[in-house]
Amino acid sequence: MYRSHNCGELRASHINNEVTLAGWVQKSRDKGFIVWVDLRDRYGITQLVFDEERTPKTMMEKAQKLGREFVIQVTGTVIERASKNPNIPTGDIEILVSKLTILNDALLPPFTIEDKTDGGEDIRMKYRYLDIRRNPVKNSLIFRHKVTQEVRNYLSKEGFIEVETPYLIKSTPEGARDFVVPSRMNEGEFYALPQSPQTFKQLLMVGGMDKYFQIVKCFRDEDLRADRQPEFTQIDCEMAFVEQEDILNAFEGLTRHLLKEINGVTIDKFPRMLYDDAMRLYGNDKPDIRFGMQFGELNEVAQHKDFGVFNNAELVVGIAVPGGNSYTRKEIDKLIDWVKRPQVGALGMVYCRCNDDGSYKSSVDKFYDQDDLAKWAETTGAKPGDLICVLSGDKNKVRAQLSALRMELAERLGLRKPGEFAPLWVIDFPLLEWDEETERYHAMHHPFTSPKPGQLELLETNPGDVKANAYDLVLNGNEIGGGSIRIHDKKTQSLMFDYLGFTPEEAKAQFGFLMDAFQYGAPPHGGLAFGLDRLVAILGGQETIRDFIAFPKNNSGRDVMIDAPAPIDEEQLTELNLKLNLKS
Ligand code: ASP
Repeated sequence: MYRSHNCGELRASHINNEVTLAGWVQKSRDKGFIVWVDLRDRYGITQLVFDEERTPKTMMEKAQKLGREFVIQVTGTVIERASKNPNIPTGDIEILVSKLTILNDALLPPFTIEDKTDGGEDIRMKYRYLDIRRNPVKNSLIFRHKVTQEVRNYLSKEGFIEVETPYLIKSTPEGARDFVVPSRMNEGEFYALPQSPQTFKQLLMVGGMDKYFQIVKCFRDEDLRADRQPEFTQIDCEMAFVEQEDILNAFEGLTRHLLKEINGVTIDKFPRMLYDDAMRLYGNDKPDIRFGMQFGELNEVAQHKDFGVFNNAELVVGIAVPGGNSYTRKEIDKLIDWVKRPQVGALGMVYCRCNDDGSYKSSVDKFYDQDDLAKWAETTGAKPGDLICVLSGDKNKVRAQLSALRMELAERLGLRKPGEFAPLWVIDFPLLEWDEETERYHAMHHPFTSPKPGQLELLETNPGDVKANAYDLVLNGNEIGGGSIRIHDKKTQSLMFDYLGFTPEEAKAQFGFLMDAFQYGAPPHGGLAFGLDRLVAILGGQETIRDFIAFPKNNSGRDVMIDAPAPIDEEQLTELNLKLNLKS
């Protein structure tokens, strides 16, 4: 038996007990005649004491040589501490050691293993196993475990079955590049790693599994934008014999359960918003509704004067910044610079101060009188003391720009409160999305998504207007999940593939298995997937998913600890029938 207790467990009630503990040396203080050692394990810290009077000389010397992160085992008596430490649960006691065994020594760690460490991100990633010994990382992993346990408990109770699906598969287009794996046994052929188990979960529905879930790794070879990982985890779900309403209710239930169990927050019904409204009111399909600052479209009230910039714009749109009239001219200029940064890309910003006396002062007073500006205030909901910020230009671009400004200002104003949770369903997404690069429509969600009933005909005339039975679950301005009702008949699915530019041969080669399955009695079905990493981060009050992943990759998709990806040797290449053709 290595230990009778753990390092977080002993209290005053254990005084005089003989115990055995094992763990790491967090630190030791050597006063010559007395040595204190903080012994750490996953559960906490217990103080050990060795002193001249009561500890044999050889053991005293051994204790004096203990280095940081040595792994030791001690047996001793629990005694009352002379000076108690109210900051830790074991702070009333210490262990007078009678037996000390060094289980392993340790090199000096490259950063301090403490809550506030001196180690930068890179070094901590390289020695992630040391980082995991620190409370913030350890606690994040424990937190993630709690969330996944609750997910499993809830869904199992609701009759969902967790089924594993394969990782070595054929491409599932979800908008990213596939990671591929060469097959040794099938010369010249490759598996793809799943971007999600999408087609498999649909096949499980054909198989009669009715309510499926899986906590599963997904792989997408994307250029890594901030806070994305090439492999990430989904809570993947699918149900048969359901309509959109059933799915929203089922997974609203799960989310409500998590908020209650994990965060102690009770939320009744989640609001729902049409995609078109989300774009119009927030310029964004994942609005943070913890605060207002809704967009006010100003075309009608701002395009009747001689101000060419507005007159030529597809959209003139503004937001009211609460209390923003207190900004100095310099601060407003800085804000204008902020929206003009290339990351945001606005050409400029018009503003209007709403004075306390009810008058207005705008940067375009030459063109607009007080009555005009009063209409701006009315449309944006601005009150005396606010500042109206107005952007104009191409509709889609300007919405994205103003949305960025809205989020930035809310952050600065402290309106994005970490302890507050505002879930929202965004529904009725468009089926298709125009892709500038390829100059064609792509499936906005994925090619298996069903158009809204009766809208299939619109595909020929107004493809951009076709709405889908597709929905996202948004929490505090983050998309935490998304899904759709699926196409479940071969005819519609072939039509869809055809529309998306697959030749019948390509569709058959890539998705023949799904179309075949649809001929053998496919039930109506639909589902969704949550991004577990992000969900956990948000429930944990953070926005970086990396903190909640035991061994994350860096922004270049590298695991700097194991140094992957890495070249493989000639022999392996030959075995796989591969020849490298490197550009550099
Ligand atoms: N497979 C989809 C995704 O990964 C989710 C779904 O449609 O259920 O986004």
